[in-house]
Amino acid sequence: MVIPSLIQHKRDGNAIAPADWVRLIGEYTAGRVPDYQMSALLMAVVFRGLHPEELAALTDAMLASGDRLSFDGFPVPRVDKHSTGGVGDKVSLLLAPMVASCGVAVPMMSGRGLGHTGGTLDKLEAIPGMRTGLSLADARAQIERIGCAMLGQTPEVAPADRKLYALRDVTGTVESIPLIAASIMSKKLAEGLNGLVLDVKTGSGAFIPDPDRALELARTMIALGETRGCPTVALLTAMDRPLGRACGHSLEVEEALDGLQGRGPEDLMEVTYALGCEMLLLVGAARHRADARRMLEESVSSGRALETFGRVVEAQGGNRAVVDDPAILPQAGAVEVFRAPRGGVVTAVTPRRVGRGIMELGGGRVTMEDRIDPSVGFVITVKPGDEVGAGDAIASVFARDDAGAAAGLAALAEAITIGDAGRLTPLITHRVTAAGVEAVEWEG
Ligand code: URA
Repeated sequence: MVIPSLIQHKRDGNAIAPADWVRLIGEYTAGRVPDYQMSALLMAVVFRGLHPEELAALTDAMLASGDRLSFDGFPVPRVDKHSTGGVGDKVSLLLAPMVASCGVAVPMMSGRGLGHTGGTLDKLEAIPGMRTGLSLADARAQIERIGCAMLGQTPEVAPADRKLYALRDVTGTVESIPLIAASIMSKKLAEGLNGLVLDVKTGSGAFIPDPDRALELARTMIALGETRGCPTVALLTAMDRPLGRACGHSLEVEEALDGLQGRGPEDLMEVTYALGCEMLLLVGAARHRADARRMLEESVSSGRALETFGRVVEAQGGNRAVVDDPAILPQAGAVEVFRAPRGGVVTAVTPRRVGRGIMELGGGRVTMEDRIDPSVGFVITVKPGDEVGAGDAIASVFARDDAGAAAGLAALAEAITIGDAGRLTPLITHRVTAAGVEAVEWEG
């Protein structure tokens, strides 16, 4: 194939033939197209977009680049959730064991950190010993036994997305509706699901900040799912501030464990319950939203969700003692309190600045080869609209050393702004299905 011609064709706003997408993805996955050419093509897609038939071909080629989880003969319905990415978004860690405790199987296949956002796999791997690289056979066996596996893309699953995802992360090519849609759906469609719930983030910290474009992303993914036999529903949720209080790998695992014991921050719990209700409704495990909510709350209050999380950790080689003793997670060497520089109302807690701050502390990847430090991050206890007094302790920095702590304080000084008036935007704004868009307003 003549890759430079394809790049030029896309650069000039033309559609690449579906058969060429299929060949290109095959060649790239096999290592016969260099990253620099693929980067140029991806950048052209960021600017020019994809026609629906190109998107369908790209998604199917990425899906076909690997194997699928097969659940032949397994009677329990399977459902998963995927987020388009945010800061402080540890929902998957709570949601998978909660839903599995309600008798539905959850083969949760997640990704690593991308750009300024954190990834579920990196968070899970903060737990000493935890393995996320399960083979599909091991994942199926674990799901049959425990009802849940939390895995990454092994080389068997959508390897094309695995390569492209890592490349996009370091080439400024994440922010594209068709690339995000193809990436997410190629992984999800490999899971053998009976239903998929999408958490599409909007606001300044989302990859697609504009609500109308976020709705377009939701509709695009729903169409891909529905036309490939996977009923798909999306909620649009706020990412103009971090979700919950903890941002950073160990800190987020600890907050997720709090949530599994019913002590999580309200916004985190509300988003988790809302997505969980959709999951149970989608596969018919509950008939009404109120029933679904009761089932999920009961999975937490009974301790079953926490127990399931512990079993998943143990099955995947992790130290199950983390459930009772989060102090076994990697701990920061230096902790500093951040105080409000003035009294007033919090006007913003900027997720991108928080996410970049975590990277500056060593908790993110700048190149594809970087290793992340799970111990670092922030705990931010204020949200936009909160009143604060001058000198109030409103956040903490967790860093490797004093120099890191100083950098973290500087990041917080930029991320958190205080003025005279501010307000919290609604936490959940839209529910999107194949039938259309419903405006909802969940505060939080
Ligand atoms: N999550 C994914 O899996 N892929 C993207 O491109 C963005 C978020």
